[in-house]
Amino acid sequence: MDISTTTLRIPTVAIRRTVLVVLLVLASTALLNGCAVNPVTGEEELMFFGPEKDVQLGRKYAPQIERALGGRFPDENLQSYVNRIGQRMARVCHRPDIAYHFTVVQQKGINAFAVPGGYIYITSGLLQELDSEAQLAAILGHEVGHVVARDTLVAMSRQIGMTALVAAAAIGDAPGDVTRAAGFISGVLTLQYSRDDEKDADMVGLSYMIQAGYNPEAMVETMQILDELQAMRPIEFFSTHPNPESRIAYLQERIGNRYALFTELPDGEEEYRKNVLDILAPPHARQPTADPNAVDQ
Ligand SMILES: [Zn+2]
Repeated sequence: MDISTTTLRIPTVAIRRTVLVVLLVLASTALLNGCAVNPVTGEEELMFFGPEKDVQLGRKYAPQIERALGGRFPDENLQSYVNRIGQRMARVCHRPDIAYHFTVVQQKGINAFAVPGGYIYITSGLLQELDSEAQLAAILGHEVGHVVARDTLVAMSRQIGMTALVAAAAIGDAPGDVTRAAGFISGVLTLQYSRDDEKDADMVGLSYMIQAGYNPEAMVETMQILDELQAMRPIEFFSTHPNPESRIAYLQERIGNRYALFTELPDGEEEYRKNVLDILAPPHARQPTADPNAVDQ
């Protein structure tokens, strides 16, 4: 196996430091699936983990990650609605064979996360800021794009090193494992994807939206909403995602060049209001009476 001829987005120092550990692990457990073609970027990447390892990692850490994000939002109608939209995106994605899980976490912070293996989280804070089902599909489609491209694994290996990642997958009950698990979880939650990863996730998310029957312009609207929120106060989303300005430009260009015909697809504003907004903030609580004619007598 000639590592030097393979596209590998991991710093050289990290490779040197971890190659021995990795080889040992590979020798004993045959983790290596060889060079895999990333279905989103089309690039060949050396994958230290087979895709089944992603699922194993995700399943192992999902309960702790969910807790760290504020816990599952306690309304199963809302959960099943968000999951339904997520599954529509998953069905048309490059890796429909993965079992995807979409969960709303109870948190005012505005954010969305993808964890290896198909575990995707969106905060109730972000849901509350959106206006339509197509905008929700845009966010979930983008996160599915990260899962398909295995961006989380690549970024994690960059951030905490391959050694820690291999260790995280192998954690058992030994002393020190709890600390390593905590390191892995905080790593996932503060993960910074590269701009290229973000653009790829945006582009595949856009195509998933269209295949699932949503107006692609909703992805631009999502960026505009986040941008407006960011102008008021720094929002959590941008600690893990790049600034939306450049994203709006390339999304509009792509829609204009390729998807103009699809902008008549539905946005699903009514469905979103009924299934999400009315649950998160019932209509009477959302708008204080602003009608000047409604004099209280
Ligand atoms: Zn992203």
